[in-house]
Amino acid sequence: MQGGRERGLPALDWFRLAAAVLVVCIHTSPLESFAPVGDFWLTRVLGRVAVPFFLMVSGYFLARGGWKGTGRFWRRTAELYLAAVVLYLPVNVYNGALPPLEWVKALFTDGTLYHLWYFPAVLLGVPIVRGLLRLGMLPALGLAGLLYLVGLGGDSYYGLVSQVPALAAVYDGVFLVWEQTRNGLFYAPLFLLLGAAGLRWSALTSGLGFAAALAGMSVEGLWLHAMDYQRWDSMYLLLPVCMVFLFSLLLTLNRGEARAARRVSMVMYVIHPWWIVLLRPAARLTGLEELLLDNSLVHFLAVLALTVLSAWAVYLLRPLRPDPTARAWREVDLDALAHNAQVLQAAAGRRCRLMAVVKADAYGHGAVPVARTLRRRGMKAFAVACVSEGIALRKAGIFSPILVLGWTAPEQAELLRRWRLIQTVADGDHGRALSRQGVPLKVHLAVDTGMHRLGIPVEDTEELEAMFRLPHLHVTGMFTHLCVSDSMEREAEAYTQGQMEAFYAAADRLRQAGLDPGALHAQASYGIWNLPAQPCQWARPGIALYGVYSDLAPVHRRLDLRPVLSLRARVASVRTLHAGEGAGYGLAFTARRETRLAALSIGYADGLPRDLPARGGQVLLRGVRCPMVGRVCMDQLLVDVTGVEGVSPGEPATLIGGDGEDFLPAEEVAVQCGTITNELLSRLSSRLPVVRKGRGI
Ligand SMILES: *Cc1c(COP(=O)(O)O)cnc(C)c1O
Repeated sequence: MQGGRERGLPALDWFRLAAAVLVVCIHTSPLESFAPVGDFWLTRVLGRVAVPFFLMVSGYFLARGGWKGTGRFWRRTAELYLAAVVLYLPVNVYNGALPPLEWVKALFTDGTLYHLWYFPAVLLGVPIVRGLLRLGMLPALGLAGLLYLVGLGGDSYYGLVSQVPALAAVYDGVFLVWEQTRNGLFYAPLFLLLGAAGLRWSALTSGLGFAAALAGMSVEGLWLHAMDYQRWDSMYLLLPVCMVFLFSLLLTLNRGEARAARRVSMVMYVIHPWWIVLLRPAARLTGLEELLLDNSLVHFLAVLALTVLSAWAVYLLRPLRPDPTARAWREVDLDALAHNAQVLQAAAGRRCRLMAVVKADAYGHGAVPVARTLRRRGMKAFAVACVSEGIALRKAGIFSPILVLGWTAPEQAELLRRWRLIQTVADGDHGRALSRQGVPLKVHLAVDTGMHRLGIPVEDTEELEAMFRLPHLHVTGMFTHLCVSDSMEREAEAYTQGQMEAFYAAADRLRQAGLDPGALHAQASYGIWNLPAQPCQWARPGIALYGVYSDLAPVHRRLDLRPVLSLRARVASVRTLHAGEGAGYGLAFTARRETRLAALSIGYADGLPRDLPARGGQVLLRGVRCPMVGRVCMDQLLVDVTGVEGVSPGEPATLIGGDGEDFLPAEEVAVQCGTITNELLSRLSSRLPVVRKGRGI
């Protein structure tokens, strides 16, 4: 967190807490026992800045992100709303269940409990704002302002407006849909847009503007209240004016962020009604009714204290996300992954679908986020190396077919069945042993066409047919694996050709014997890059999905793939060596001149070879290539940063991927390591957290 954090007042996030307290005020009326008019002002005038503020921060940040985060914001808000709906079901039941139709209506319009109207209003408001913004900011503001005026007529000014019978009839229609006009399309769009506009004046102007507008709004509110014009008291003519100045003031003061305040305020908003509900029986049981219920101020303070404490507890118990302050991490670009899936699907041909190979934690990219992204992109099947990898995907909610490519002990047949995993038959004996377990299993037959690793020999028709007669195996597919398809040499290409022909011929012989070999598949990544589209139902790309080739060798069809993974580590410490001083284990490095060395927090236990520096290993720091020196340690390595000004602890270095203008391709690093990207990436240690980038849609 230290890194780029600005010092100063995180005004926007702190004000979220203030706004949450105001909402608790609105629902507990702290001053009611002492000063009813004061209470009206506090809760029905001043308090009314709270919800518009929440809308404005949302609009502000969505607009600042170019509205790219809109889908995610919408989804998260919907999820939070659904969680809140469930949370308050007991209260709904206690209050007397609504008829189902009313209930569904409440879900989409007014919220299922009094404070939840905010959620449907935002969920409706955001798409409206996106639509309005197509017209440009000013027309959008104009239209949203008109909507607000309409809403005003059904809220604070209803007593005046409804004196015109035609208007009263219109509002009666509106009230059939929304109980209050703040609930629907009249209120949220304006504040979302005002937030998006992000107007900003000096602190003095903003402060004076806010004070004046608040004074005006107080007069307005107290007058409307005195005249008894208000049907509801959420909207005032001067509320948008107040908000523009208040928000400007907060923006001007704002420095940095306070994530905890953000989360705690939202939880406070959602849960405080539960404490209002629970405080009643608690007060009765303890005989403290007079104090806790009748004294409005104590009641408010008790609800507030319980709300803050429980929201804080929820915050402390939150599931830990991969820490952006990790010492080193794998950055996985889900948008690049989604793009690659699309490109590969197009390359595989229309009839052939992709079975995504996500073995070895998706080649070090994190199997679960990868599989989820690919499934959203329409990928219908996955392949893993072993049963435990398949189970992990099932537990993460991946219900698509999953093929276990490797050998599985027959004793695990029950696990295969329970988790609905399709097992590869490694050879005839394996098939028979699996069947002997007496558990019904779906299997794909591996066919050995020349790799001589797994599979029933392609010419052994009898053995292939025998698998179909085994009582407990149900053959739903047949596949082979190519072993030289990565080579463009003539001899290798002829070998691959021979493998494919033998494979298809075996499938034909089975069909002639009246057996259905099921889905056929043969191509892995290099099969897609180097062979034309095949008459197969599936292809099994692994490394290609991750946007890299195995090495620097050329292929027939270079596709527009994007590397998914970047590997980064932080600088732990920087020091200067005089000429002649050595560094690292064995003092394997000696400074020839005055040298600045940075220690990076990543080592061979994270998956880098120990001799990478001697093989020419480099990292990018501030976009500049710096050579690794000495020997890689278990958890650290040294780089020569003499050429880069001002490198300091905490800043990130890139070992694979881009930084600034420069890029370290995984292929290049793999070749330096004396291997292929498949090995380099899949060996990255699970202690490197996966930090996701992009949304993968
Ligand atoms: C690993 C594997 C793949 C994927 O290979 P890539 O070269 O990474 O595309 C496909 N099929 C089988 C049988 C595998 O073991």
